[in-house]
Amino acid sequence: YKNPEQKMTAAPIYTIPVVFHVLHMGGSENISDAQILDAVNILNRDYQKLNSDTSLVVTQFKNLIGDARVEFRLATKDPSGNCTNGITRHIDPNTNWTSTLSHYIYSWPRNMYMNIYVVKTIASGAAGYTYLPGTSPSLASDAIVILHDYVGSIGTGNAGTSRALTHEVGHWLNLPHVWGGTNNPGVACGDEGVSDTPITKGFSSCPSSTTAAMICNPGIVENYQNYMDYSYCSRMFTTGQATRMNNALLSATAQRNNLSSSGNLTATGVNPTFGPCAPIADFYTYSGVTYNLYTICAGQSLSFVDASYNAAVTSRTWSSTGGATISNVNGSPTTITFPNPGVQTVTLVSSNAQGSSTKTKTVNVLPNAAFITNSYQESFEGTGLP
Ligand code: ZN
Repeated sequence: YKNPEQKMTAAPIYTIPVVFHVLHMGGSENISDAQILDAVNILNRDYQKLNSDTSLVVTQFKNLIGDARVEFRLATKDPSGNCTNGITRHIDPNTNWTSTLSHYIYSWPRNMYMNIYVVKTIASGAAGYTYLPGTSPSLASDAIVILHDYVGSIGTGNAGTSRALTHEVGHWLNLPHVWGGTNNPGVACGDEGVSDTPITKGFSSCPSSTTAAMICNPGIVENYQNYMDYSYCSRMFTTGQATRMNNALLSATAQRNNLSSSGNLTATGVNPTFGPCAPIADFYTYSGVTYNLYTICAGQSLSFVDASYNAAVTSRTWSSTGGATISNVNGSPTTITFPNPGVQTVTLVSSNAQGSSTKTKTVNVLPNAAFITNSYQESFEGTGLP
């Protein structure tokens, strides 16, 4: 009966349902499910102090490494209770993200899910950004936006950039940068209100030694290995930061306290889980030059690529109007040739054992004559030299 470990009360784990919204135009920014799963695993590792590189934390902070006790799980139910794999994909030119508030059109309720938008570029030049609880200008923008190649460590990601999401989730859970409320490290010594992170300017690259990390106060090594610094050698939160994040998850500010409630874990299909799902059909076109072109001339063809998501597609069928010929009715990509002008439709049915779904898009097929009429024909015949 002597088992002192059993006397310890297990620390609560805060479970957060997560949904990723991948915005893409058919390129490598349409990252794989596997890359997203890898990113979730990295979050769970870092937020439960399971990362092996805590061994590299410098002596001054070895006893301050915080276990945030947060677990992230991909949702298996969407806000309507439908089956989801926690990853939505949208063919959307806003994958070149301009931070326009009205572009957050895919967000699921923030009191039920942590929303992560994966995009190709961010106009501000950031790798990712989000809002501290209570500071988002809208409900829908209370989300994380991040570049596809800063998600996970595989596919388009890599180990070096994979902690960017750990950093952004820290903001979303109410952690400022270790130097305070600006986005500019290395400028001014500052405090972010967490007592066990020393005053610092922050670092934009990893200092070569602890001596080089004593900037603001003589003899005080700064916590340049913190996830909330920009040093790119981050390996830890402090215990004070972990407490601050746990408090954010217990607070009604920005409805964060509903996320890990047992009712919400059921509603989002995190516990118990739901599924497997049927695919959600979608597709894009490729002309050989341009993606998502839906206006061509009679007699021309387009390549159509299956971009269905939510589950693996085990069978598919393409169809079209207007006497179009389809090179590969059950394959992807398939080439469809449109002989006749007019507004034609292309339909994809994607299926697996759980069910099927249908997506239809229109293709505007112009008469060839339109191009002859509009072209400017010029002949140099007869312009004899003087
Ligand atoms: Zn930041």
